[in-house]
Amino acid sequence: MSDPAATRPSARDRRFDVLFEPVRIGPVVARNRFFQVPHCNGMGHARPRAHAAMRGVKAEGGWAVVSTEEVEIHPSSDLSPYVEGRLWDDRDAAALTLITDAVHAHGALAAIELAHGGINTPNHYSRETALGPSHTVSPYGYAPFQARAMTKREIREFRQWHRAAAIRAKRAGFDVIYVYAAHDLSLIMHFLLPRHNQRRDEYGGSLDNRVRLLRELIDDTKDAVGDTCAIAVRLAVEERRGEEGLEHAGEGRAIVEMLADLPDLWDVNVSGWSNDSATSRFAPEGSQEPFVSFVKRITGKPVVGVGRFTSPDAMVAQIRRGVLDFIGAARPSIADPFLPAKIERGDIDDIRECIGCNVCVSGDYTATPIRCTQNPTMGEEWRKGWHPEKLPPKIRDERFLIVGAGPAGLECARVLALRGHEVRLADAAHELGGRVTLESRLPGLSAWRRVRDYRASRLTKLPNVDVYLDSPVTSELVLDADATRVVLATGARWRRDGVGRANRRAVPGFDGPAVLTPEDLYAGRAAHSPVVVFDDDHYYLGGVLAERLRTDGHDVVLLTPAAIPSAWTVNTLEQAAIHRRLLELGVRVLVNRNVVDFDGTELGIACTITGREERLAAATVVTVTARWPNEALAEELAAIPERTAAAGIVSITSIGDCDAPGTIAAAVYAGHRFGREFDQPPNPAEPFRREYPDLDR
Ligand code: ADP
Ligand code: SF4
Repeated sequence: MSDPAATRPSARDRRFDVLFEPVRIGPVVARNRFFQVPHCNGMGHARPRAHAAMRGVKAEGGWAVVSTEEVEIHPSSDLSPYVEGRLWDDRDAAALTLITDAVHAHGALAAIELAHGGINTPNHYSRETALGPSHTVSPYGYAPFQARAMTKREIREFRQWHRAAAIRAKRAGFDVIYVYAAHDLSLIMHFLLPRHNQRRDEYGGSLDNRVRLLRELIDDTKDAVGDTCAIAVRLAVEERRGEEGLEHAGEGRAIVEMLADLPDLWDVNVSGWSNDSATSRFAPEGSQEPFVSFVKRITGKPVVGVGRFTSPDAMVAQIRRGVLDFIGAARPSIADPFLPAKIERGDIDDIRECIGCNVCVSGDYTATPIRCTQNPTMGEEWRKGWHPEKLPPKIRDERFLIVGAGPAGLECARVLALRGHEVRLADAAHELGGRVTLESRLPGLSAWRRVRDYRASRLTKLPNVDVYLDSPVTSELVLDADATRVVLATGARWRRDGVGRANRRAVPGFDGPAVLTPEDLYAGRAAHSPVVVFDDDHYYLGGVLAERLRTDGHDVVLLTPAAIPSAWTVNTLEQAAIHRRLLELGVRVLVNRNVVDFDGTELGIACTITGREERLAAATVVTVTARWPNEALAEELAAIPERTAAAGIVSITSIGDCDAPGTIAAAVYAGHRFGREFDQPPNPAEPFRREYPDLDR
């Protein structure tokens, strides 16, 4: 290893030198300790150019190793409709070469996670029979299929598929080849687990037998490609399901002991995926340490682990204390692909820290390109040509007035100011951040403040931005502002009348004083027990408010027309944890129920399936159903086109929640998009680049 001090740029804080030491992994050397572990992205095999560009930007941002997501190695591991990587044949390898080229172009190593989903693969597209160690149903979803117990011949075939995939991966240019046994999403892990493996042959029964397949695959892969490629094992060392699963003090540890120095690298984590990628609401930075710290004491090979690390001090501590050799990151590398480069050049304040919201995961769950709350360029690198650190030069000088400093207004101001425009940002509130500031005061959401703080800190560094707080903006003020362009980012407010998905008309009685909106609660209006939170929004807010009201001492009912509380949070891996927390706190959860009317003391409710009605005691009803865009200012200005033109205003544009209420991620995206695109010639024929099916063969 070279002396990092010899090459240290003057801007880098000496404390962080250790992060920039090169580390050998078998036959290859990583240039530093920043390791982008495999993560899904909703682009996978279907959008290879977009996928490659995204990985290339990570390499450009300084990550030493950039990995794919799980890459299916055979048609019997078809994860459709999810869009993962695919390496069924040579033609798939050609598409993956785009990734290795993009990663190598910036001096990083490319890693591939070869995967067979085993009992979890319904094979909707390939229509192959699912394979597993024993006859079993899938533990995920309710798909009416079973996996068949593999014969020994099929185990031999599986080893050949894996070997062939490794050889193809090497030919495609990958430097690190993963043998994947984690998240309960891998055939190899299914063989490890007694709950899935009830075989009576040499692949079942004792731990030695259950580990046999993993050991064989490591040997096979080393034999096939180990001369030039490093062989990594990704292993769940803990599943947090007690004796039924792998435990870090039990078989999780024993497996590492049995294989200690066999792979070139250990990538260890806590499974399932919802534990590994726990949201900030349920797990702090570095939460996996107690489960994975034993690994380095057993093996002499480098160890990578994750923990939503965004603080360089926390990263250094992991290395110094001998917990990890590599700082593994999926989400922090999504929120800021340039995280290593920013530490290297001493721009710690410029790191766009992940907020742990898992909107990125929702891309995978909806089989659409990844998106990120903090990084609006994520997934847009190829199709829109967006770079997280570069913006197009301005075409001409403009003077902007931005009304509203929530996520949309803040991001818009940041982008426009970086492009060199004069920006004035005004907000009626006493603080920046809009809804993010308000929501980050709710239980478990404090990390969301980072959406505001990152942008606010950037704005203070830009001389061409003036920020005005406590400044309600009227149409007269807009006319007097001497702006050439006006951006309205005035947000939205929750409806009080109960209208949402289940009710298209106002609910009788919801106009009374005992009905509160989330904004009423933020403003300190008192609720009285029993409180019913009517959640027809289905994302996080209804559940979070129920939690807050319950911890404030109220009797709380969460009532929802959906079959489960906070139903959309399935897409952010949180639904089960939210449900559990509500029940453990003593919140009564009523599902499949709609509201009918309210008389101030009792709420009429009806079963959404049978229509059967009943009465429920309620002193306060909190409605979380839908939002009204704050469009009054836009309407006023639209009514006086001659006056706005005479004032020199060329355009007035509504962005974010005042355009159409949505996620914080959507508001940030809208702000970014306007800032980047307002002066670019639109191309209605192709608003973004698409990847077309190859019809040549
Ligand atoms: P978004 O998510 O679209 O950014 P938010 O609701 O988070 O929207 O933020 C909107 C911000 O706009 C709030 O901070 C609010 O105080 C501010 N705002 C709304 N109307 C006005 C106005 N007329 N003048 C100044 N600020 C306003
Ligand atoms: Fe982090 Fe949220 Fe971005 Fe995912 S979407 S990387 S959790 S900020």
